[in-house]
Amino acid sequence: MTEANPKIAISAKGLRKVYRGNNKAPAKEALKGVDLSIPTGSIFGLLGPNGAGKSTFINILAGLVTKTEGEVLVWGFNIDRNARQARASLGVVPQEINMDVFFTPKEALDIQAGLYGVPKSRRRTMEILKALRLDDKADAYVRQLSGGMKRRLLVAKAMVHSPPILILDEPTAGVDIELRKQLWDYVLELHARGVTIVLTTHYLEEAQELCDEIAIIHEGDVVACEPTEKLIASLDSKTLMVTPIEALDAAPDLGAFTAELKTDGRLSIPYQPSKAQVAEILERLSAAGVAVKDLSTVESDLEDVFLELTYRRAG
Ligand code: ADP
Ligand code: MG
Repeated sequence: MTEANPKIAISAKGLRKVYRGNNKAPAKEALKGVDLSIPTGSIFGLLGPNGAGKSTFINILAGLVTKTEGEVLVWGFNIDRNARQARASLGVVPQEINMDVFFTPKEALDIQAGLYGVPKSRRRTMEILKALRLDDKADAYVRQLSGGMKRRLLVAKAMVHSPPILILDEPTAGVDIELRKQLWDYVLELHARGVTIVLTTHYLEEAQELCDEIAIIHEGDVVACEPTEKLIASLDSKTLMVTPIEALDAAPDLGAFTAELKTDGRLSIPYQPSKAQVAEILERLSAAGVAVKDLSTVESDLEDVFLELTYRRAG
């Protein structure tokens, strides 16, 4: 029934959510039968535009939203049959900052630990506050904390019961670069200690940089789920950037390849790595009388993958 250390941290099968409509809004199918497996030990990104269904998915895991259909296991625990254990296996940092402002960070963590039944002797309140650089604010009132500090406190609260899985829902939306870095330092530290990390974001760059596996969710459907590198490689498209020795007036004719002359004088030449070698392009350039001063290749990035997937769907 349960596993001490499952291979799959979170699994969803046929997960559907329909928000009931009312006189103001029609019913909304936010998740349309999502199948997803999040491997233990990964930093998993759930990527998608606003309204894709990311928070709905997270909130179902956290027990805050009731699913319409489907089966969900968290750390091997079924969220219907073993709700308490499932919930104890997760720490969730919600998208919205909603916190009781009348407590101090120390009190807030103690209350949270109490809710999860962590005995006093096993609480790590100051250690957690220190890790999130909130130790000097331990006894300040929450309402005196900056927005960034509040967000760090939410992460601290999510970790009081030392869950094996930490879920962050858009943790860096509206957060400045310095704080973002601090937050990731801590998250990566937890990951190094074995915590499985799930993060939702609509920042492609962030997902590409941090996540080793990514699911792209679009209008309630998972349209891709792969290791990050594979996802990007799957596009089979790269661009060769060439700086000619002598400035060109127009892009040269390269036969099977199409060059574009950029305003900075460089040539941009897209190609498919599975079909063409850079050497072939260089031969074509030489044949066209273009002497090369410098060259580099540009990989496609997640943005391209994302556009292609959503475009393919729409089209
Ligand atoms: P994301 O987190 O990816 O931005 P959400 O899960 O918040 O997406 O929302 C998915 C869809 O469900 C959106 O169309 C949103 O308007 C709708 N939705 C979210 N929460 C509710 C709710 N409580 N009642 C009705 N519709 C909702
Ligand atoms: Mg959201």
